[in-house]
Amino acid sequence: MTFLDVRDLHVHFPTDDGVVKAVDGLSFTVHRGRTLGIVGESGSGKSVTSLSVMGLHRRSAVRLSGEVLLDGTELLHADPEEVRRLRGRTMAMIFQDPLSAMHPLYTVGRQIVEAYRVHNPVSRKAARAHAIDLLARVGIPHPAKRVDDYPHQFSGGMRQRAMIAMALANDPQLLIADEPTTALDVTVQAQILDLIRDLQEEFHTAVVLITHDLGVVAEIADDILVMYAGRAVEYGAAETVFRKPEHPYTWGLLGSMPRLDRAVRDRLQPIKGTPPSLIRVPPGCAFHPRCPYNGRGGIPCATEVPSGTIACHLPHPERVRLAPTL
Ligand code: SF4
Ligand code: MG
Repeated sequence: MTFLDVRDLHVHFPTDDGVVKAVDGLSFTVHRGRTLGIVGESGSGKSVTSLSVMGLHRRSAVRLSGEVLLDGTELLHADPEEVRRLRGRTMAMIFQDPLSAMHPLYTVGRQIVEAYRVHNPVSRKAARAHAIDLLARVGIPHPAKRVDDYPHQFSGGMRQRAMIAMALANDPQLLIADEPTTALDVTVQAQILDLIRDLQEEFHTAVVLITHDLGVVAEIADDILVMYAGRAVEYGAAETVFRKPEHPYTWGLLGSMPRLDRAVRDRLQPIKGTPPSLIRVPPGCAFHPRCPYNGRGGIPCATEVPSGTIACHLPHPERVRLAPTL
C-alpha cells in the first residue's frame, strides 16, 4: 500500500536574483516496507524534497505547490501544528552529520528519552529503558553504559547509529535518510546500510534514501528516482534502473561510480560540465547542455521539456540500444 504519495511537487524560493526552482514538478510514491532511493548530484533537489515532506521549510521563504500525502493525509498545506505532531512520530529523518541533529551538551540517552517523551506520556525511567533498548537494537555495545555518554564520546559510525536510534524512538512509519553514510568509511557505511535494511524488515517502515552515490542505493533500494535540476529524469524498479538504465544522465552517473568494473566504466562517458543554476534552468531538457545525444536525429532537446518515467526525447528503441548493461 502506498504510504507516501508526492504529486507534482514544486518548491520555489524567490530571491533577489530570481526564483530558485529547487524542485519543479516531482511525483513519486513509497510503500510500507519498501525503500525508494533518490539519486542525483548536489543541487538536484533531493534534500529540498525531503525537507518539504517533513514540513521543515520556513513557509514565508518558499512557494510550495502540489501534494504530499502521508497515509492519505495532505501535509504540504496542512496546519503546521499537525505536521509537527507527525514529525518524529509517524515520520523521522536522519542526516549525514549526526552532530547537527544532536545537542552536544546533552547525553545521547537524554536526547533519545526526550524524543520519545514528546509523543509518549511515560516516566523518565521507562523512557530510559526504551533508550537503552534502542541503542542495543542499533548495535551499540554496552548500551546501558553508553546511554550516559555525550555525542562527542562516540565514534562517527556509533554516532550515526545513535542518531538512527533517536529517529526510531517512536517507531516511525516513514524514515527519510539524507546521505546517511556519506561521511563514513566504506566498512561502516555497509554496516549502517545493513542496519537500515534490518530495521525496515522488522518495523515494515517506508524508507526514502537520498544519496549522490548510485552504488549506495543499488544495495538497498527497491525503486530508484534519479533527479536532475529539480526534476525526475528516470524512475523505476532498482533492478531495471541499475542494470539497464535508459536515461543519458543515469548513464553518466553510473560512469562516475568508482566501484564499477573498469570494462563497464570505460564504455560510459562521465558527465562533463556542472549542474545548471536553478534560477536559469536550461529550456527543454535541463540536461541538454551536458548531454552527448542532445539533438540527435532532430529530437527537440533544447526546446521541449521531456516527460514520463524516463524523461528523454530519444526514441525508446534507441535508448535501449545505447544503454549500457551492467
Ligand atoms: Fe539528452 Fe535530449 Fe534525452 Fe535530454 S532529451 S537526455 S538532451 S537526448
Ligand atoms: Mg543534500
